[in-house]
Amino acid sequence: MLTDGETMSVDVVIVGGGACGLTAALAARDAGAEVLVLERHRRCAGSSAMSLGALCAAGSRSQADHRIEDDAARFLADIMRKTDDRADPVLAGAVARESGPALDWLSARHAVPIAVDLAWRPAFGHSARRMHSVPERTGEALMARLQNAAEQAGAMVLTQADVTDLDSTPDGRVQAVRYRRPDGAASVVACGALVLASCGFGANRAMVARHIPAMRDARYFGWEENTGDAIRWGQAMGAALGDMDAYQGLGLLAEPHGIDLNPRLLIEGGIQVNAQGLRFSHELDDVSGQGARVIAQPGGFAWVIYDERIDAACRGLAQYDALIGLGAMRSGDSVAALALACGLPEPELTETLASLERGGDRFGRQFDQPPLRPGFRAIKVTGALFHTQGGLVVDATARVVRRDGQVLPNLFAGGGAARSIGGPGGSGYLPGAGLCMAVTLGRLAGRGAATVL
Ligand SMILES: Cc1cc2nc3c(=O)[nH]c(=O)nc-3n(C[C@H](O)[C@H](O)[C@H](O)COP(=O)(O)OP(=O)(O)OC[C@H]3O[C@@H](n4cnc5c(N)ncnc54)[C@H](O)[C@@H]3O)c2cc1C
Repeated sequence: MLTDGETMSVDVVIVGGGACGLTAALAARDAGAEVLVLERHRRCAGSSAMSLGALCAAGSRSQADHRIEDDAARFLADIMRKTDDRADPVLAGAVARESGPALDWLSARHAVPIAVDLAWRPAFGHSARRMHSVPERTGEALMARLQNAAEQAGAMVLTQADVTDLDSTPDGRVQAVRYRRPDGAASVVACGALVLASCGFGANRAMVARHIPAMRDARYFGWEENTGDAIRWGQAMGAALGDMDAYQGLGLLAEPHGIDLNPRLLIEGGIQVNAQGLRFSHELDDVSGQGARVIAQPGGFAWVIYDERIDAACRGLAQYDALIGLGAMRSGDSVAALALACGLPEPELTETLASLERGGDRFGRQFDQPPLRPGFRAIKVTGALFHTQGGLVVDATARVVRRDGQVLPNLFAGGGAARSIGGPGGSGYLPGAGLCMAVTLGRLAGRGAATVL
């Protein structure tokens, strides 16, 4: 038994105050449980606040309002196609089914308005318009709204509470957790059920090197507190781990500004070229795999090339506006001027842009947007590891599964702590799936935790 320090007892304890943890808190409160969220950082933010705040979901009321044809079956089919049938179909089916209702519930019951973002055309493996966001279209705003909702719902949230240990019985029932305060004092809180919402292991370089050797030297551009604790604790309790080599990369990290560029620049018709002025991929094929592709280019960087029309369409997106403010964008009224501004070889860049005019694409991309026109723009980017996608195996109710296939009696996980729906490796990630997993599994986990008390 954990014994030191002060001991209190709460129905449901949640480790991690990101989107998953706060959504789980709302669901557990709705089910009548007393809830304590323990967050290591001084504020509730996490990768969720760093994100672009775009979530994928199917069957939402907002989609219906816009007469968008989409449902769980279509979402599931997209997930399985994107992962070559390697995603866990049970989990993927549950997430596809529960995602739209989770957003409707947050909007209607907790005043966290999340609506479909019509600007996100189907791309990167989504066959329908199913990206949703809060009105501000940032992860920061999503987190501010979730935190406000959690406070309104009466969830207790303790920041600067670094969870260090779990105490469980030999049959795997969690009894208490220990956390440490900044002054070093340790406290113990007993619980009826525990939700692990402390995300993945992107900030743990040793774990990344072990599980995702392909990205061992890549820059990590995620939350620095996400050190894989849930996975370590789960493993010690006999939990099964899944798809540990899965991750989301991105080939759109503005260099040297360290701000992620919105994929909408590509969806609207932008392209990526390397230092030789040459395209190297179908830019809308694999949002995550593009990270490794960019890193593999000479010098490990690429330029996103777009034009005045796309620039205008993307103004108002917070991260994009910030990059413009920092002077990240280069411009040229002609290909020659752009080549000069970016230090790219003019003949190759001219040929690359001319080949778009001819509609030819050896990478299989179908350009359905107007061709790029003079009034060119460019931003330099590199690739990075954004977050890990492997983790604790959970069932369709977000309950953690043991290596022998039995479920642990009162342990739940969601968001980046759980194995995701992207299958193994770096290419199964669908845009918006990270927050979808946080919110959808967070709701299931909070509700489930409140019902096993
Ligand atoms: C730059 C960037 C952009 C992204 N953009 C998108 C996007 O637009 N759409 C999308 O769907 N996904 C996006 N993602 C991925 C998405 O942000 C994550 O998948 C999602 O936020 C995970 O939510 P979470 O609640 O599981 O984790 P987090 O939001 O990271 O929360 C985990 C929390 O747990 C805390 N914690 C960790 N260990 C402990 C401990 N031992 N004790 C106490 N607390 C602990 C951490 O401090 C953190 O606050 C992006 C990620 C990054 C990095």
